[in-house]
Amino acid sequence: MAAQGLGADASPSPRFLLLFAVMLSAWLGGFRPALLATAISVPADAYLFEPPIGEFAVRLEYVPRFLAFVVSALLACALGARRRSAAETVALGMDRDPPARGVAASYVHPLTAGAFAIGIFLLDTLTPFEIAVPVLYVAVVLMAVNFYQARGVLLVCFGCMALTMLSYVLTPGEGSHGIGLLNSSLSLAAIGVTTFLGLKNQSAVASLRRARDELGGKVRELRRANTMLQTEIIERERAEEALQEARAALAHTARVATLGELTASIAHEVNQPLVGVVTSGNASLRWLAAEQPNLEAARRAVERMVRDGHRAADVLDRIRALIKKAPTKKERVDVNEIICEVIALTRTELQRNGVSLQTELANELPPVSGDRIQLQQVILNLIVNAIEAMTGEGAERRELLVSSGEDGLNGVVVAVHDSGVGFGQESADRLFNAFYTTKGKGMGMGLAISRRIIESHGGRLWATPNVPRGATFRFRLPIDGEEAPSSRHVRSPSSAMDLP
Ligand code: ADP
Repeated sequence: MAAQGLGADASPSPRFLLLFAVMLSAWLGGFRPALLATAISVPADAYLFEPPIGEFAVRLEYVPRFLAFVVSALLACALGARRRSAAETVALGMDRDPPARGVAASYVHPLTAGAFAIGIFLLDTLTPFEIAVPVLYVAVVLMAVNFYQARGVLLVCFGCMALTMLSYVLTPGEGSHGIGLLNSSLSLAAIGVTTFLGLKNQSAVASLRRARDELGGKVRELRRANTMLQTEIIERERAEEALQEARAALAHTARVATLGELTASIAHEVNQPLVGVVTSGNASLRWLAAEQPNLEAARRAVERMVRDGHRAADVLDRIRALIKKAPTKKERVDVNEIICEVIALTRTELQRNGVSLQTELANELPPVSGDRIQLQQVILNLIVNAIEAMTGEGAERRELLVSSGEDGLNGVVVAVHDSGVGFGQESADRLFNAFYTTKGKGMGMGLAISRRIIESHGGRLWATPNVPRGATFRFRLPIDGEEAPSSRHVRSPSSAMDLP
């Protein structure tokens, strides 16, 4: 009865092909296709192979055999699906955590597989030839793929094949030997194919893992390089900031040094209005002390005092602004206004050195965008240099011309033209080098700083020797905003505005 229940009289081989189909679906497609294959093959088995044949019912004595088929199908389905999900996990790089993998592996422990194999062997040996139990070894191979390398899987495969053949030999001589041989051959083929597919899958997973590890290494390297690059950028930014601060400090020092040279001039410039205040004060006292006080004259004298007081305050304001260590501040500035301010500071120095000053400033010069104090520093530096060039040895005439105008290319050009000692063409480029000086007490920073200031305003500063003597220093700044109308009147000689 038991032997009959396990299918002693049924045609066995094709129904295990159904089982094989389930396994293949699980292996190649995963859980859902395997479940679908199971859902199709179970009724197919009941209809085609379980008595009564041709009906979906199963006779009571065949229920164990039918259940054995269902369980085998579900087992193959679960194991195949698990293999696939393991491969996908590796491909997605999610199996990084070795302990997690260990737990997963213990799920299909080698001992379980061994016990399963022994169970199959006993069942196969004890059941008649017609029941192709050895096809279940496929499940053992699938388990082995989970925890053994290729060599181990092959050993398991050969072991299962050997057990299949041993069962064939040991099975009591009931039933058809032909069918037994066919079942065993089919099972051997199923074991072989499963091993082959398992190993292929294993090597695919291994190469995926290798590729992922390599990629991980490259990503780590890239991250390291990126961090280093960012650190370098931050350091460079810090160095740039420090350089900027050092430059600003140097520019400030140069400004203070230039003003130091102008001390006599500045003192005179402040003294003049103060003398005026005192004179006007005395005069107004006299007007008021008269027998008949002349109030009108006294009022005019007080007005002069107020005006002179403002003049002195203006001079001090300009000096304070120049000395101030203020950061760069761009605004719309009138270049002519800046020239006049600097001339006011240097007027006494010019007179003291017998320099005759001429100005040719363009009317309605368009404004430029710039830092007023820095531009003052440039012009001051050029004028002081010109005075020194004209008062040194070898200078005869002392004529200074300061001009401004448009260059017709949307720029404003300022020229400081002197009749001093001039310079040779060979030293024209070196003039702007830091620390280049021909003066005993010179710093050689004035022109270097001036050029940097003009370039930071988007302009250019250059020098040309004059014929027969002297030098002209020019700088050009871009006009702030719209293209300037070309009809503006420029009083300066056109040559003075030429670009080199
Ligand atoms: P410093 O005035 O301290 O020497 P600068 O950078 O202002 O530093 O000038 C550098 C050099 O350029 C001067 O020493 C001088 O030789 C030359 N130089 C500057 N201006 C003139 C000028 N107007 N005429 C002739 N040479 C000049």
